[in-house]
Amino acid sequence: MTTAGAVVSPRVCAECNAQVSPALLACPSCGRLVHADELKKLAAEAAGAENAGDAAGALASWRQVLDLLPSGSTQHARVLAKVQAGSARLAAAPGGSRPKPAGSGRSKGLASLGALGVLAAKFKWIILLILGKGKLLLVGLAQAKTFLSMAIALGVYTMLYGWKFALGLIASIYVHEMGHVAWLRHYGIAATAPMFIPGFGAFVRLKQHPATVGEDARVGLAGPIWGAAAAVVFLALGAATGSPLLLSIARIGAWINLFNLIPVWQLDGGRGFAALSRGQRALTAGVLWALALSGVDGMLYLLAIGATYRAAGKTGAPPVGDRPVLATYLALVLGLTLLMVAAHGGAGALPAHG
Ligand SMILES: [Zn+2]
Ligand SMILES: [Zn+2]
Repeated sequence: MTTAGAVVSPRVCAECNAQVSPALLACPSCGRLVHADELKKLAAEAAGAENAGDAAGALASWRQVLDLLPSGSTQHARVLAKVQAGSARLAAAPGGSRPKPAGSGRSKGLASLGALGVLAAKFKWIILLILGKGKLLLVGLAQAKTFLSMAIALGVYTMLYGWKFALGLIASIYVHEMGHVAWLRHYGIAATAPMFIPGFGAFVRLKQHPATVGEDARVGLAGPIWGAAAAVVFLALGAATGSPLLLSIARIGAWINLFNLIPVWQLDGGRGFAALSRGQRALTAGVLWALALSGVDGMLYLLAIGATYRAAGKTGAPPVGDRPVLATYLALVLGLTLLMVAAHGGAGALPAHG
């Protein structure tokens, strides 16, 4: 009872003894920051991470600092600028270890081995990259909420489509979600573990607002990128084994990721579009209309209509668009449409042929 009372009662300012409502971040009479001690600790953590070369760790600490500063204060503006600058530096894909700059001892040794050595080094780097991402895929499974909601979704989909198709569907959705998780970690943005909702897919809820539209766009498009990679794997397995089931999993995977690219609301495509200029949106709309008219899938019309709406609508578009986001979005819609064509052998084979 005493602890409960202490939580509810207002704090007392350490500076002027005025009562401060728990909702406030600064004392209303003297302006002292309520979380001054924690802020000092977090700033020290951020500095330590920066010195250790841990950019994502530093950014995560700065984001926590931001949450404890009153919005509109000069400190808030200063730390927000710091987070935005740090985020811009992290706009390149998360890969953990990047290749060492030329001139380091290792690259010199490889150069003497010639093209074969370089190829081997690149291959090794790709393997390390896949292993690193594989580890992250398992991390998600260790979350009890994710695992339980996934098991329930698996049960529901099994009743509808049989367990083999259900397993492929769940794997496709899960890999998509972990793409978001990988980029959220890369940027040091706090978020919940993925939660599955049968019939609706899955979602990751952010606990902090992304600091820039570019950041939000990259986190948003990471899901379809990883999801497309999963669909490619199912397509390759389906082509190698001639299994209509695997081809139909590749096709539904591509379809789900295309659906998420509809550029409206909080869908992944909507978040990507927020970083595009009006001209880039119009260009994308043109590409989407061409794809829709190709007749591969009726859903492409929804993407084209959404893009046209965003290009013409009153919602603010940045004057200078984000080119890597534009390139990624276009590559995704083209690639996923081609995937659906390539996996056509599995069309209509949903549960019946499996
Ligand atoms: Zn005070
Ligand atoms: Zn997504």
